Amino acid sequence: MTGTERFDSCLLCGGRRLRFMRGYEKDHIFLCLSCGFVFCQVKPSEEVLNKHYSQYPRARSIGEITLKRYDSLLDSFELYRKNNNMIDVGCGDGHFLAAAKKRGWNVFGTEFTQEAIEVCEGKGIRMTKGSMSEQLYSPGTFDIVTSFEVIEHINTPQSEAKIFNFILRQGGVAYVTTPNFNSISRNILGPKWNIIEYPEHLSYYTPKTLTRLFEQNNFKMVEISTTGISFDRFHNSGSNQGNASLGADEQLRQKAENKIVFKMLKSVINHALNLTSKGDSLKALFKKN
Ligand SMILES: [Zn+2]
Repeated sequence: MTGTERFDSCLLCGGRRLRFMRGYEKDHIFLCLSCGFVFCQVKPSEEVLNKHYSQYPRARSIGEITLKRYDSLLDSFELYRKNNNMIDVGCGDGHFLAAAKKRGWNVFGTEFTQEAIEVCEGKGIRMTKGSMSEQLYSPGTFDIVTSFEVIEHINTPQSEAKIFNFILRQGGVAYVTTPNFNSISRNILGPKWNIIEYPEHLSYYTPKTLTRLFEQNNFKMVEISTTGISFDRFHNSGSNQGNASLGADEQLRQKAENKIVFKMLKSVINHALNLTSKGDSLKALFKKN
């Protein structure tokens, strides 16, 4: 392949009225004037992608908070348990599926590297390597399809949502998380928002465009939320040594108080972010019609 391949129509609606986004030229980001979808116009070559993902860091272990989140998510999935099959697309090291397996789900996953495949298989997850394909599973196999922070990495949203629909049973659900392009962080930071990165991220969703994608593929939106704001994105000073003029006890007390205030603040902020659809993290549940 010679030269750079570029999309000349919107990945979501096929519209041809595309406009580059001022300030985002470095990452080749365009906006579709018809549907509002934001995506990378350049199609990275296999070589570029292979090089990028060969140095990709993996999360080897997960924390208490993540485990708790998995638990409450799995609680909510009980409502849909019928075939007892769940698949996590781009499942990484398989932490989420391992938690699901403990609850008796038959767990399936997909990943790209041999290393990830082996790690997951070691946890009893049935893996397939590479992109999803309709040939791999019978239609209606799954109650649940999950995909955590994956769809922003791909530039084939329509075929992805189509496959999700194909492998889900009627009434089954897809749970998808992705960064929210309409977040307050991105509004403030613009192209400096740390999510904006080529060839790492190729599609940038908002609640509206994500819902549009799934509705076009025979899903109904059940729930959508945007929460969280990462303060790290605003200051990278790392000066967290505490107040040296205070005694140790006083420092501890202040830390605990800060924690309570922080927790309250966080919950208020999350509520406000969700109401205004301005949170960093977009989470959505769609049900197959
Ligand atoms: Zn469009």
